[in-house]
Amino acid sequence: KDAVATPVQAPAVSRGAGQEILNVKDVCRGFDKTQGELLVLDDVNLTLREGEIVGMLGRSGSGKSTLLRIIAGLIQPTDGHVDYLGKPLSGPAEGVAMVFQTFALFPWLTVLQNVEAGLEAQGVGARERRERALAAIDLIGLDGFENAYPRELSGGMRQRVGFARALVVDPTLLLMDEPFSALDVLTAETLRTDLLDLWTQGRLPIKSVLIVTHNIEEAVFMCDRILVLSSNPGKVVAEIQVPFKHPRNRLDPAFRRLVDDI
Ligand code: ADP
Ligand code: MG
Repeated sequence: KDAVATPVQAPAVSRGAGQEILNVKDVCRGFDKTQGELLVLDDVNLTLREGEIVGMLGRSGSGKSTLLRIIAGLIQPTDGHVDYLGKPLSGPAEGVAMVFQTFALFPWLTVLQNVEAGLEAQGVGARERRERALAAIDLIGLDGFENAYPRELSGGMRQRVGFARALVVDPTLLLMDEPFSALDVLTAETLRTDLLDLWTQGRLPIKSVLIVTHNIEEAVFMCDRILVLSSNPGKVVAEIQVPFKHPRNRLDPAFRRLVDDI
């Protein structure tokens, strides 16, 4: 076989031209403090369409996790509302999955059991649970680790479990809360690239991704569009279109193999 690199594949879905997945409208959120109220999110608006990976870039404390918790239906906005697939959100919606900064795995469960746990709330039967969990484990590169416990895994592998647990539900919308910030830079780079490869090849069931991060390079590498969140209070102060067509494929394959071998 010749040594010519395979041509860049077109994304399986068009970038940002599709159906509206999420609409965050005039969302405010405050928290009660001993002296009055702390306004964390001030009038945040954002729309996600099918085919997009959108970034929310902000300093720590700017309200990124609060915004994700609102979109995940775990807490309510004090003002404004969130529409998911055109309907107002009231609590956790089916089809919305989240990946957490510190993985949030159950330490007493194996990899397989952790991934299956993602399906338990949905009342999926045991046999189908097992099948789908194994498929997600395979997809994310964890095959052979089904029976390992989280403590036996590296940080990167633990976060792969976090991804498998989110992907196993076939989410429409994937929320990621600084998913790579607990990993060393090389491991983070490998995992980001693997994910983008799966996304670009159309192998993820997801329609849209929202990733919050404080890492500018990561946002540029991962996202089609970046919203910048100010601090105190968190307000969307800028929106940036990432100007490259395929930023995900910018790493030279030879360099990537080298990184993977370290
Ligand atoms: P980020 O994820 O951008 O670092 P967070 O959303 O975690 O920011 O927090 C934003 C601000 O909201 C912080 O000042 C934090 O202390 C405050 N906050 C978050 N959750 C709560 C809560 N449950 N009660 C009180 N204050 C909170
Ligand atoms: Mg946070």
